[in-house]
Amino acid sequence: MVTAYIAFGSNLSDRNKNIQDAILLLKTHPKIKVIKTSSIIETEPEGGLKQGKFLNGAVKIETDLSARQLLQALQDVENKLGRERAVKNGPRTIDLDIIFYNDQTINEPDLIIPHPRWSQRSFVKDPIQEICE
Ligand code: AMP
Repeated sequence: MVTAYIAFGSNLSDRNKNIQDAILLLKTHPKIKVIKTSSIIETEPEGGLKQGKFLNGAVKIETDLSARQLLQALQDVENKLGRERAVKNGPRTIDLDIIFYNDQTINEPDLIIPHPRWSQRSFVKDPIQEICE
């Protein structure tokens, strides 16, 4: 059993509903147990692109899924919630990222764990700090 931390963010349509729906989909996944959910914070978009504010947070989970299976499960949730990917780093219905997967380091073209720059992003770091003890 692995402990993993998933960060989420939304800045399109009903942001709070998108996040609640994503957490519900994670909770109903047969191989994911949600242990803790952080507070939800409102944050300014980073990166210079003009777009709406985000709601961000994180969940601590336990899972038997491999890191790659977990990535696929998160992408399934994003797709179910109709995530648009029209603009890189642009507005998104829901974004789910694996920040930690136990203490493993993974460096593959499409899967990097710990997630790059997580510690410089307060919208990722603060929610994880809240739930990590
Ligand atoms: P984004 O559009 O910002 O959500 O980026 C999605 C892409 O990031 C996907 O194609 C993933 O393969 C890749 N990716 C790399 N590392 C991670 C990670 N730790 N968690 C989620 N996605 C990741």
